[in-house]
Amino acid sequence: MSIATVDPATGELIRRYDHLTAEQVEAALAASAAAFTRLRATGYVERARWLRAAADLLDAERDDIAATMTLEMGKPLAAARAEAAKCAIACRHYADHAASYLADEPLPDPSEVGAVAAYARYRPLGPVLAVMPWNFPLWQVIRFAAPALMAGNTGLLKHASNVPATALYLGGLFTRAGFPAGAFQTLLVGADAVEGILADPRVRAATLTGSETAGRSVAAFAGRHLKKTVLELGGSDPFVVMPSADLDRAARTAVTSRCQNNGQSCIAAKRFIVHADVHEPFLAAFVAGMRALRMGDPADEATQIGPLATASGRAEVAAQVADALAHGAIAHCGAVTPGGPGWFYPPTVLTDVTPTMRLWSEEVFGPVAAVHRVHSDAEALALANASAFGLGASVWTTDPAEQDRFAAELDAGAVFVNGMTTSFPQLPFGGVKNSGYGRELGAHGIREFCNLTTVWAG
Ligand code: NDP
Repeated sequence: MSIATVDPATGELIRRYDHLTAEQVEAALAASAAAFTRLRATGYVERARWLRAAADLLDAERDDIAATMTLEMGKPLAAARAEAAKCAIACRHYADHAASYLADEPLPDPSEVGAVAAYARYRPLGPVLAVMPWNFPLWQVIRFAAPALMAGNTGLLKHASNVPATALYLGGLFTRAGFPAGAFQTLLVGADAVEGILADPRVRAATLTGSETAGRSVAAFAGRHLKKTVLELGGSDPFVVMPSADLDRAARTAVTSRCQNNGQSCIAAKRFIVHADVHEPFLAAFVAGMRALRMGDPADEATQIGPLATASGRAEVAAQVADALAHGAIAHCGAVTPGGPGWFYPPTVLTDVTPTMRLWSEEVFGPVAAVHRVHSDAEALALANASAFGLGASVWTTDPAEQDRFAAELDAGAVFVNGMTTSFPQLPFGGVKNSGYGRELGAHGIREFCNLTTVWAG
């Protein structure tokens, strides 16, 4: 696959980039190992100063990096700016909290183990490879890099091949902010280079955000070479609406959750599971909201939904919808691929989606919603959990007993009650089942790439 910037709004090739040579990859690995020696010798105060400087750069350069993201993968400009702002917040969060997240954990009574002192200490692991996707090309990387660097690890970024300019920006950001040269580097390489890099003894672990297929492949390499991994893969999140819900707010949030980032978010609501008592009014409000979205040039400030990031991504979404329609699904809006340049796909709502259709079981990475009708909370739970994925879930009910039941029984890494599934620097993020394993963000995220060392002193 070539590494190139192609404008998804027009299909125009903007720039092609050379892959790194084997010698350049070797030099980067050596630099990462050398930087690790320097970085681990620094303290939290120094690293926090550098990370705050990175946050300041992200703020100062927000408009430029937002425009780059919009050009490379098509998200509306306002969303790209918001993504850059969130990255700065995450950097400041880890600058402020890494020391307490990674503080020694002493045994309250060390005499129980015959020691004068006994504690667990978080130490860095070394160079970590990050294989990252194009959908939130800044955020997915920063949410790995900020905690990893604060913990004293170094990072090697293999970004998606369609966002090289964003990748190169990230490759320069942390050294410009003061981190040692080599502490965070971008490797312009294809997916076929990943196993060789992971096999290198200097690389201690890997994190991947992306498709289930890529996750399985990287997990297999990592198993072969005995490297720790964190995987954040796809999702087909349920959005459950029960009779007591605030329907207006639920329908408005449903539109945002399904269509943010042009429908290309792992934690987007994709399966709308609605109680029969409120199915008709919810569907009407949801379809009206989906129809009202303004689709167009993502660089235009008025645009709410831009093109899909790649031609193959749009072809896949169109094929999933065509399959559903061929098997009896009903389209309430959208479902027609527009002519003309760019990889646009309209907001689409389908009902009568059944297990014979691809959409029933596959993740759909575009603005396509399947709305189901159920008759009880038990049926809603069963349908919500009838998925190979388990990333996030959103449930809309004002009944406290129902809230408790859904929070306890939904198979997901996050349950949001009366709100849209999202991520916060303060809270852990990740999935179960085929959505992956391990956690990013919060205190749990920074501990994933640490050597948790037991210290016993007699
Ligand atoms: P991929 O999972 O293929 O790409 C994500 C990253 O993994 C890229 O850096 C890619 O590199 C790399 N990669 C891909 N295959 C391998 C492999 N075998 N070994 C090592 N690295 C690999 O995502 P796509 O862009 O192809 O999107 C396909 C689908 O993935 C989407 O439709 C969606 O369902 C899901 N997806 C989920 C995301 C999420 O946030 N959970 C994000 C993006 C996609 P390269 O670009 O060079 O191929």
